[in-house]
Amino acid sequence: MTSKPKNVAVLGSTGSIGRNALEVIAASQGALQATVLSAYSNAELLLRQAVQFRPRFVVAVDPVAAASVDWSGLPPDCTLLTGPEALVEAVRSPDVEVVLTAIVGRAGLEGTWAAIEAGKTIALANKETLVVAGALATKLAADRKVPILPVDSEHSAIFQALQSGRRNELRRIVLTASGGPFRNYTPEQLAAVTVADALAHPTWNMGRKITIDSATMMNKALEIIEARWLFDLGPEQIGVVVHPQSVVHSMVEWIDGSVIGQMSPPDMKLPIQYALTYPERVAGPAAKIDWTQTQTLEFFPPDFARFPALELGLEAARTGGTTGAVLNAANEAAVAQFLAGEIAFTDIVPACRAVLDQHTFEPCPTLERLLELDRWARQEISTWICH
Ligand code: NAD
Ligand code: MG
Repeated sequence: MTSKPKNVAVLGSTGSIGRNALEVIAASQGALQATVLSAYSNAELLLRQAVQFRPRFVVAVDPVAAASVDWSGLPPDCTLLTGPEALVEAVRSPDVEVVLTAIVGRAGLEGTWAAIEAGKTIALANKETLVVAGALATKLAADRKVPILPVDSEHSAIFQALQSGRRNELRRIVLTASGGPFRNYTPEQLAAVTVADALAHPTWNMGRKITIDSATMMNKALEIIEARWLFDLGPEQIGVVVHPQSVVHSMVEWIDGSVIGQMSPPDMKLPIQYALTYPERVAGPAAKIDWTQTQTLEFFPPDFARFPALELGLEAARTGGTTGAVLNAANEAAVAQFLAGEIAFTDIVPACRAVLDQHTFEPCPTLERLLELDRWARQEISTWICH
């Protein structure tokens, strides 16, 4: 245990990543302290977390949800802030050292951006920030000398495996994908998938949006784009392999043919903890592999015909510019429509394709332009659905 705790802002503390992060912090024996907790609508859970973790700031982003809770039980040294601007204000606080960005979707961009601008170390779960604005965010981080440490399990695995060689010895990386619940489904079966089917992931327990993304394999498409920006790779250097057990979290292939991967049970506490304690490794609450049991690890090539989302990810990694922002917004809107029962599971990816085809590519957009296109693409999805 270090003498002074590392102060962590947990953006999205009531979500799947946020709750896992608080387990890691609780188990850290004082090495990690939650200085900021934030959530959108689950104000009751946020209050309970604040009572347990005694952060300096608690941010309830949705003022309506905030007003529904009696905050008089907050610890005396904890300040309640509300509204989206409050998130940015809390992140900038001098108390904060590391910002865990665990808000889902494009909504996570402002907090991540503010944290980079303020020079805070980023533990990045919100992959959508890099999908929407990877070129701008990584440039800002490089200018401010801010490390972006991956929390996504695949990218954490790559980050760990890259430490086994030199950058000029790297041939490619291979992202593993569980393949989701519909790995072997026929087109007819895919067309009949219900919301409940798609929310039942075989290996990971995650938030709703990423669970649907895993079922369409859009999650892997977004991760290809995330890897492209995090590790500065060309799309030809990023491979995908289906690995249903989710034990090998990804691999690095060196020029001599040696492949180094990272293994652990599917439990996000490990990559979260590694990002929060880096460069140190510490004992923690993450599940361990039981080597007294038989382990079967399988690897299959991905089926691009069954999962056309993968091609969209490669395309966005190849073209850059405005493609990622449009793809991400179209996907977020289409997933919301699927969850609302408005469109079929098999409509999600074609809807994204159609919106991408509608948009006029720009190679070097500003952040404002990307956010404008984000709004435009969401609108286009509504139009697509009406046809
Ligand atoms: P989740 O839906 O479980 O939680 C989302 C959190 O963000 C909640 O705390 C919610 O209150 C907050 N939030 C939602 N909308 C907001 C808004 N408009 N403003 C402010 N806060 C808002 O999501 P999750 O599964 O924890 O995923 C979070 C992020 O981590 C996503 O970007 C996801 O891709 C990434 N990720 C998740 C996992 C996982 O295992 N869940 C794994 C890898 C990466
Ligand atoms: Mg992942």
